[in-house]
Amino acid sequence: MTRICILGGGFGGLYTALNLSRLPWAVMPEIILIDKSDRFLFTPFLYELVTSEMQEWEIAPTFAELLADTGIQFVQGLVTNIDFEAKQVEVNIGQPDVLKYDRLVLAIGAETPMNLVDGASEYAIPFRNLNDFYRLNSKLKLLEASNRDKIRVCIAGGGSSGVELACKIADRLKDRGRVRLVDRNHKILANSTDTNRKIAELALSQRGVWTDLNTKISQVTDREVTLDYADGSDTLPVDMIVWTVGTTFTKMLQNLPVKHNHQGAIATESTLQVKGYADVFAIGDLASCLDANGYLLPATAQVAFQQSQYCAWNVWASLNQKPLVTFSYIPLGEFISLGIDGATASIFGKFSIDGLPAHWMRKFAYLLRMPTSQHQWKIGTYWLTKPLIQLFRKSV
Ligand SMILES: Cc1cc2nc3c(=O)[nH]c(=O)nc-3n(C[C@H](O)[C@H](O)[C@H](O)COP(=O)(O)OP(=O)(O)OC[C@H]3O[C@@H](n4cnc5c(N)ncnc54)[C@H](O)[C@@H]3O)c2cc1C
Repeated sequence: MTRICILGGGFGGLYTALNLSRLPWAVMPEIILIDKSDRFLFTPFLYELVTSEMQEWEIAPTFAELLADTGIQFVQGLVTNIDFEAKQVEVNIGQPDVLKYDRLVLAIGAETPMNLVDGASEYAIPFRNLNDFYRLNSKLKLLEASNRDKIRVCIAGGGSSGVELACKIADRLKDRGRVRLVDRNHKILANSTDTNRKIAELALSQRGVWTDLNTKISQVTDREVTLDYADGSDTLPVDMIVWTVGTTFTKMLQNLPVKHNHQGAIATESTLQVKGYADVFAIGDLASCLDANGYLLPATAQVAFQQSQYCAWNVWASLNQKPLVTFSYIPLGEFISLGIDGATASIFGKFSIDGLPAHWMRKFAYLLRMPTSQHQWKIGTYWLTKPLIQLFRKSV
C-alpha cells in the first residue's frame, strides 16, 4: 500500500493530513501523521491561556480526538533522522523505530534560539508551545503568591509575540505588574501595518508597559537583565524574562542533505517539493518558500495553512500522475491580540478595526480555522453558552 508520512502535526502537517484524507482516492493510501506531542496547538490562542480567557482543551485538542474517523494514523514520537535515499524516517516512540514512505511531508516547524545571549538558555523562558506556557505560568503563579509589592517582567522582542504577551501579562498582573518590552529595532511590530502598530503602542502605554527601543539585551541572570542602549548600558533587576526573539531549526533538520537558506530553512520549489527530491515536500516554518515577487514568505500559521492545501493536492497529484500546481500565497491580513478582550485587525492590509469588535472578529476567524468541524462546533457552542452559564452561576 502507498504510504504518505507527514512529520509534524502543526498548522502545516495536521492540515495537510486532513486535506489529504478528503481527496478522491481510488485506493486510500496509508496516511501517517507523526508528532512528538499528543496534541495539536493552535498557537495564535496561546496568549489566552496566560489570562485564563481560554482553557487548554479549546486550543490544544488531542490528535486522537481530531483524527477519529479520518482514516489517518497517528504516531506519537520524536523524528530523529530522515534517509532520503532509503526513503525512510527514524522515529523514537519510546524505542527507535523506522517508517518507510512513498511520499514525505516535512512540517516540524521551527524553534526559539535560546543561545543568542549569555544566560538566556538558563534563565529566560521561551513562548512557543504548551510546555513553555506551563513554565511561564508556574513562574507567574510563584511571583503572584510571593509578598513582592511589584512583579518585574522583561520581554525580549517587540514582534507580535512580544507585544501580545506584554499586554496579556500586564492585564494579568494589573497594578502589581512592571512589564518592560525590549527590542533592538527603532519600532515595535516591524512587519505590521502602521495602523496596527499605532493601536498596539497605545494598548501598551495604556497598560503601563515600558518599551525600550534601539536596545539590545546583552546578558541575562536569574535576577537581572543587562540592556545595551546606543549610548551606554544598564543592568536592571527583574523577576522574570520571556524570550520571543529569533528562529532556529533542530540539528536534525540542519544536518539534512538538502539546500538550506541562510537561516537554515529548507529550500523548496514553487510546488513545495524539496529541491532535488520530488517525493519530499516541505511546508510551514521550516520551509524557505518565495512568493511570486521572489520575497521569502513569513513564518506564520496563515502561510502554513494555505500551503497545506497545495501540499495535499500536490502529493495526491504526484501519486495520480496529474500535473502539480504552483503554490500562490494570498495575504489575508493580520490579527494582534491586545490584552483581555482587546485586539487589532488589518484586513488585506487595507482596513483596520480594533477593540472589542476586532477581538470578536479574531475569535470568529480563528474558530473557522480550527482543524475539524467537530472541534469548531465544540468550542463554538461553548463560547456561545459560556456567558449564559456564568450569568446563571452568579444568580444562584
Ligand atoms: C505564541 C505564538 C503565536 C502565534 N500567533 C500567530 C498568529 O496569530 N498568526 C499566524 O499566522 N501565526 C502565528 N504564529 C506562528 C505560527 O504558529 C507558525 O507559523 C505555524 O505554527 C507554523 O506551522 P508549522 O506546521 O510549520 O509548525 P508548528 O505549527 O510549530 O508545528 C510543528 C509540529 O511539529 C512537532 N515537532 C517538532 N519537532 C518534532 C520532531 N523532531 N519530531 C516529531 N514532531 C516534532 C511539534 O510538536 C509541532 O506539533 C504564532 C506562533 C507562536 C509561537
